[in-house]
Amino acid sequence: MIKNGEETKISNPVVDNFEFQVSHEIQCQTCGNTISNNEEYNNLCLELPEKLQNSLDNEKKKYFSRRAKLYAEKNFDFILNMFSNQL
Ligand SMILES: [Zn+2]
Repeated sequence: MIKNGEETKISNPVVDNFEFQVSHEIQCQTCGNTISNNEEYNNLCLELPEKLQNSLDNEKKKYFSRRAKLYAEKNFDFILNMFSNQL
C-alpha cells in the first residue's frame, strides 16, 4: 500500500499468527550426504485422535514423519540432482 508516497506494510493476521517455516533435512542412507531446505506453511492437516490421549504433538510428529517418508521415497533423487547441479 502506498500512502503519502511511502510504502507501508499491511499487517496480515493470518500470516502473523499462522505462517511458519519448516526445515527439512534428508540424509542418504547409503553415502550419508545430507541436504536441507525450508518450506513455508500456513496450515497443517492433522488427524484428530479419537481419544484425546494422543497429544497434538504426537499427531504433528506423525504428520512430519509421513512427509519425510514421502520426500525420501519420491523426491530424494530429484532434490539431490537439483542440489548437485548447483555445485
Ligand atoms: Zn547417497
